[in-house]
Amino acid sequence: MTKIGFIGLGIMGSPMAVNLQTAGFEVSGFTRTSAKTAALVKAGGRAATSIADAIADADIVALMLPDSPDVEAVVTGPGGVLEAAKSGALIIDFSTIRPDTARQLAARCTEYGLTMLDAPVSGGEVGAIEATLAIMVGGDAAGFERAMPMLESVGKSIVHVGPSGSGQTVKAANQLIVAGNIQLVAEAIVLLRKCGVDPSVALDVIQGGLAGSTVLTRKRTAMLSHDFTPGFRLELHNKDLGIAIAAAREVGAVLPLTGAMGQLVTSTVARGDGALDHSALIRLVEELSGLTQ
Ligand code: NAD
Repeated sequence: MTKIGFIGLGIMGSPMAVNLQTAGFEVSGFTRTSAKTAALVKAGGRAATSIADAIADADIVALMLPDSPDVEAVVTGPGGVLEAAKSGALIIDFSTIRPDTARQLAARCTEYGLTMLDAPVSGGEVGAIEATLAIMVGGDAAGFERAMPMLESVGKSIVHVGPSGSGQTVKAANQLIVAGNIQLVAEAIVLLRKCGVDPSVALDVIQGGLAGSTVLTRKRTAMLSHDFTPGFRLELHNKDLGIAIAAAREVGAVLPLTGAMGQLVTSTVARGDGALDHSALIRLVEELSGLTQ
């Protein structure tokens, strides 16, 4: 049986680890808040006591951590992946981090006889629970082939997009589309309300045309009911737009709307909304327009 050490059992990592255990892998999970191992244990997995304990005899090490410094610490830190993973192990990083960090960490892993893939995902908490994530994979082609049975247990649309770091570049592109889409759905709702048109009825017909989108389907209820339970936290989306803007600057790609979205999302975080779902972007648009709930 393939053994998996899974580090980071948050909103995404917990259901992914559960799906892997249910699919027949033997999963040991470790996360900073030990209560979050409960779902994995209930599914038959093991709660590890440290990173090293989770990964020591793992064939595959999966990471689902918030940001680049977290992945760097778990890979290169004391008792981390470089120190504790067994030789030949495959490291699959599902987190959304900087492409340059992903490349550097993959190179370090190679020095230690490990293969590291960047494999960020899209599809949100629902996609993680339903094992229907889109997974954009960067790294070695042979590593991708090895990873495939495991990736198929958590995702549906799984594509090898190029060498190390390119999965993260694709994810950055994904995140700017999602942010812009949410903002424009929010602006449409505010316009409809200000004009006295019922947004629920209007969004039904909009969904059937060219403006329809997964964002509209998944986020409209939260936006209309103001239930901003995350989901995907604004502080994480702020991080992702920072990644996209930095990557664009490096290569001279000019992304005016992404720049504006970066400012808007940063302002939501600065005013204290960072822990809310990214659908809470609508709060800002409503306030600017003088709308109360
Ligand atoms: P989360 O904060 O819910 O989960 C992260 C988990 O990692 C937490 O449980 C935290 O305790 C743990 N962690 C952090 N540092 C650790 C360490 N050093 N050792 C062990 N555990 C550690 O975040 P999430 O929403 O699950 O997102 C995880 C990643 O997936 C992020 O990069 C995010 O951008 C990306 N992502 C999230 C979504 C979403 O909808 N939530 C969708 C796609 C991608």
